Amino acid sequence: MTAPHWIEIAVQTPAHSQVGGLLSYRSLRALQPGQLVRVPLGQRDVLGVVWSVSAMAPNLPPTSVRDVSSVLEGLTPVDKAWRQLVQFSAQYYQRSLGEVALSALPPQLRDMSNEQLARRLKKQNTERAVHTTPGPSLSDEQSAVLAHMASGTGPFLLFGSTGSGKTEVYLQAVERMLTSDPQAQALLMVPEINLTPQLEERVQARFGTETVVSMHSGMTPAQRLKSWLAAHAGHARIVLGTRMAIFASMPHLKLIVVDEEHDPSYKQQEGARYSARDLAVYRGRLHNAPVLLASATPSLESWHLSRPADADGLHGGRYVRLHMPSRIGTGLLPKVRRVDMNKQPRRTVLSAPLLAAIQERVQRGEQCMLLLNRRGYAPVLHCADCGWKSECKHCSAFRVFHKIDRTLRCHHCGLTERVPRVCPECGNADIAPIGRGTEQLEEQLGELLAHVLRPDGTPVRIARIDADTTRLKGALESQLAQVHSGEIDVLVGTQMIAKGHDFRRITLVAAVNPDTALFSSDFRAPERLFALLMQAAGRAGRNAAQSASSEMWVQTFHPQHALFEAFKKHDYPAFAASELAERTAADLPPISHQALLRADARTQEAAQALLNVARETLEAQLSAYPATADLVLQVSVYPAVPMSMQRVADVERAQMLLESPNRMALQKMLWHLHSVLHQMRSQPEHKGVIRWLVDVDPLAI
Ligand code: ADP
Ligand code: ZN
Ligand code: ZN
Repeated sequence: MTAPHWIEIAVQTPAHSQVGGLLSYRSLRALQPGQLVRVPLGQRDVLGVVWSVSAMAPNLPPTSVRDVSSVLEGLTPVDKAWRQLVQFSAQYYQRSLGEVALSALPPQLRDMSNEQLARRLKKQNTERAVHTTPGPSLSDEQSAVLAHMASGTGPFLLFGSTGSGKTEVYLQAVERMLTSDPQAQALLMVPEINLTPQLEERVQARFGTETVVSMHSGMTPAQRLKSWLAAHAGHARIVLGTRMAIFASMPHLKLIVVDEEHDPSYKQQEGARYSARDLAVYRGRLHNAPVLLASATPSLESWHLSRPADADGLHGGRYVRLHMPSRIGTGLLPKVRRVDMNKQPRRTVLSAPLLAAIQERVQRGEQCMLLLNRRGYAPVLHCADCGWKSECKHCSAFRVFHKIDRTLRCHHCGLTERVPRVCPECGNADIAPIGRGTEQLEEQLGELLAHVLRPDGTPVRIARIDADTTRLKGALESQLAQVHSGEIDVLVGTQMIAKGHDFRRITLVAAVNPDTALFSSDFRAPERLFALLMQAAGRAGRNAAQSASSEMWVQTFHPQHALFEAFKKHDYPAFAASELAERTAADLPPISHQALLRADARTQEAAQALLNVARETLEAQLSAYPATADLVLQVSVYPAVPMSMQRVADVERAQMLLESPNRMALQKMLWHLHSVLHQMRSQPEHKGVIRWLVDVDPLAI
């Protein structure tokens, strides 16, 4: 009889389970790390990844170790770098290894027989040669960036204006890589593919459809499996994907590009709350592949990490900053015009000069885009007699009035009811909306522009794009196509429309009411507003012939605010410098590092109690030993507070902030916290707690 092999296998186990997601199995057949297998877990067979193999039996009763059921035939093992990436992510973001490993694999692999898999593999396209259509000859700025990338290892931060030709740089960097190495693979990451369908087309037009695959959550399970298999086998030379693509199995990965690297959608908001941007930098190191992060408004994290060294060559960041200030062609950045809303009649929605400018452009056959970051008709309904407001009974939020179907909808728990005809408290028939959303803006524009004609003599056409109008599959695409074809003159929408669209005829963009972000309790709100405004401005005047007359309007009660001053000059470095000074003074990221522990419970007291007891236990335990006492000094752990959205769907939420200038110390602290929470979990006084979760490097606190 041959001796069995003892195998550690990553399987999907419950989120915070202590086993960490690795379980021991036995196999008579020799297996290699990275092989995909099926193993019994409880009553079922589940998918697993072989993590390590040993000749020595584990320290467990022999009868408790079960046999590997089968091996997924025809698949090469996932490589070591992939396993290291998964392991690091699990550790850093405080989740089980098995959970991270399994969620990084296409879901269809989980319940596929070997026969089904064999059929899929046979159907595969095995083309590897890229057929490149040559791109334009590069500008001096573009060439300089590529030359830098060829001479160093990065990571690189490409800081380039919208329309400076960043995408062209990625494409040519990819091209160079793929033609110099017949196996090399490139990963091109974008925030949201369906918001930027043009990029997908552009990549396919350049490299052919055979060797490019996409990866994003809008794909069917079958499509996802197909893309995954192609990347894993090395047939796909380019993977174009959203944050999930960071975990694509790419054995010959040689280049990673992260487009719009500042975009919050790179941060996963459930399960392992990873930042795909940060993991890209880590993964690049594992594969010895250059990483290019790019944006017109980099995250302050990346900006800080790419700071130049001082005169003595000291204190520089570890990223290399590259700059492309000029727009391609004669395209100029739009002129920024601020409207001082203090000088407008009260309750003005669209100021007279803005309205006149829109009218003028429509009559010339140009397009306008209006941004308002609030969907629905009005954020709240109100009774002036008794003070009733349209609160949600399950959440600490108001229900939003949607006039189109006359509903009150909670945007947090989904509770939807018909609008009451009279005040539910006092019977007053005169309940009125307060504030304004995109639906109302669209309606008011219709009235204000009713008399305006297009050059062909037909009436102006107004459309709205937001999460409400794009709920149906394909709706967004068809609405965008309408804008592109010129059918629409004025487009109203949320920030959704400010992303990467290349609308050729838009010459005026307006932010209708951006002020709330200036005084938000979220310290990242100004950073997000600045990025949004710059991105929105980038939509205007992409057609060189019109760029001289293109404008970006901002209606504000604070026209002298430093953020708008910097924006007027399109001066991101000035904005970043003042923002970083404030962050430094307040010891906020990127100067310090943060993590949040959140607890959800039936009552706010129970949620806070879990956090506060954990904090006291943690500090007491650590202070007792000289080896760990230091941690208590290095990491600040703040008392529990209610979250700003305190109650959602009848669940009370509280959070506790951990902060440290030292990332390693923060990580160590989180590990101790993890075990403290496990000790506490079974204690009867914390029975009311539903769950807890950790968010490392949170985007909102
Ligand atoms: P960004 O990604 O920085 O917004 P793009 O790469 O999309 O910029 O470039 C903006 C426009 O300029 C696109 O239409 C692109 O085709 C064009 N373009 C980019 N680089 C060049 C170049 N070297 N020569 C000519 N046109 C270019
Ligand atoms: Zn009332
Ligand atoms: Zn609700």
